Amino acid sequence: MSIKNKIVFATNNLHKLSEIREIIGDKYTILSLKDIDCNENIPETAMTLEGNAEIKARYVKEHYGYDCFADDTGLEVEVLNGEPGVMSARYAGENHDSEANMQLLLKNMFGEENRKARFRTVIALLVGNELTLMDGIVDGEITKERVGNSGFGYDPIFKPNESNKTFAQMSSEEKNKISHRGRATEKLIEKLNNIN
Ligand code: IMP
Repeated sequence: MSIKNKIVFATNNLHKLSEIREIIGDKYTILSLKDIDCNENIPETAMTLEGNAEIKARYVKEHYGYDCFADDTGLEVEVLNGEPGVMSARYAGENHDSEANMQLLLKNMFGEENRKARFRTVIALLVGNELTLMDGIVDGEITKERVGNSGFGYDPIFKPNESNKTFAQMSSEEKNKISHRGRATEKLIEKLNNIN
């Protein structure tokens, strides 16, 4: 690694940061965007999760010199041809929140019997010039109404196949064990442990 044992996670999401710091332990110092004084909004202009994760990782490397990893997540609904996908955060429009996104998705799936969906997280890791893309997937279905109060985003309307509960009915420990992000993070850690 170019700067030994220091790597940037291109996020300011404190929840994601503490989760990954906990798993990685003291082998790496994980820096956030704030830690490196990166206060700009990195433009996510790609049409794919892979593209956006790569853009974020390359932006940090180019402008700040650090090795970096970045993630991007989407909810892909079969009957909607993979939508909202890369647009998951902005499904109901730029200035809308999770409540509006869920409402629109439930409306677009009203009366639909095929409710198959999956969450997919892509992580782009850039160490020196080497880019590695990893993903994590959890298959499940979109419920007909909101169930549960935990979590965030689409959690109240996503039920993974492994469980009778929605993500919003699970503890974060339960969710992390089977979630898209948990699975992608496992691959990241394996890769990081194999470097050096
Ligand atoms: P991000 O790339 O992690 O910021 O995720 C993009 C969008 O996908 C978020 O704004 C959420 O709406 C949704 N999302 C990502 N991960 C989850 C999750 O674990 N549960 C529910 N929604 C999620």
